[in-house]
Amino acid sequence: MSVNIKNSSSFNKLQKRIRREAGKAVIDFNMIEEGDHIMVCLSGGKDSYAMLDTLLYLQKVAPISFTLVAVNLDQKQPGFPEEVLPNYLQGLGIDYKIVEEDTYTIVKDKIPEGKTTCSLCSRLRRGILYRVAQELGATKIALGHHRDDILETLFLNMFYGGKLKSMPPKLVSDDGSNIVIRPLAYCKESDIEKYARHMAFPIIPCNLCGSQENLQRKNIKLMLQDWQKRFPGRIESMFTALQNIAPSHLLDKSLYDFSDLRTKEGGESQGDTAFDPIDIPLSFNNEQQGIEDMESQESIAIVELK
Ligand code: SF4
Repeated sequence: MSVNIKNSSSFNKLQKRIRREAGKAVIDFNMIEEGDHIMVCLSGGKDSYAMLDTLLYLQKVAPISFTLVAVNLDQKQPGFPEEVLPNYLQGLGIDYKIVEEDTYTIVKDKIPEGKTTCSLCSRLRRGILYRVAQELGATKIALGHHRDDILETLFLNMFYGGKLKSMPPKLVSDDGSNIVIRPLAYCKESDIEKYARHMAFPIIPCNLCGSQENLQRKNIKLMLQDWQKRFPGRIESMFTALQNIAPSHLLDKSLYDFSDLRTKEGGESQGDTAFDPIDIPLSFNNEQQGIEDMESQESIAIVELK
């Protein structure tokens, strides 16, 4: 069945869209430069397979030359199918490395039963991957986060961290020695899901460690999916908003010098709408009816998430 879908025009459109969006993100953020050696982090999940597949395509068509090395960290979780990724990568004929580090035992030793293990586990994983990137002489580390991860992180940080902050498509790692890129930053999770299904990637389940899914992230995902269902276009609008930030119309004194604000001949480009009602763009007029309703539901959702 997957073969038929693969050959269908809808699959071609889907593949083109993912490749186009990834190519655009790569260009917009200057993610890949001539001579880069990119370490592609492959967890065995749908996102990382789609990222590797897309980067291999971009490598073929890009006007610049760069190399890729796929890296998987085998954290020694019980039941991890060790042969799956080497078989897949050998089939592709690409350069790869499987790193074996038993972080599973460390996490089990350090974290009391019943407590969430993800934060220590991912901190250990991050440190190992940064080290491996140095050992491999990688100039960039590619991660498979997509548009929906970026929006979920934005809300997580707002709801629980008191910060307007998300996951940038390109950043310097927290140890200062690596550049991290997210080539799928513009891609929808639903597209990646379909693509992974059609490509029949050999997915490795992510719950082998037995840890609970991050409940807060799961709830935010449900909240966003619910919004999108009831108000189509809202996700796109929020994602566009992340690329259109007006520091002069927020409250961060470190981003905008409010203390030295002076009158300006010709006015201000962001507009003086201090006494106007808040504009609702025409394209969202169909939301007006639901706004009051949403406000009460959103406060309920936030309380539920706490
Ligand atoms: S789900 Fe398991 S493997 Fe994944 S970060 Fe959490 S503890 Fe680690």
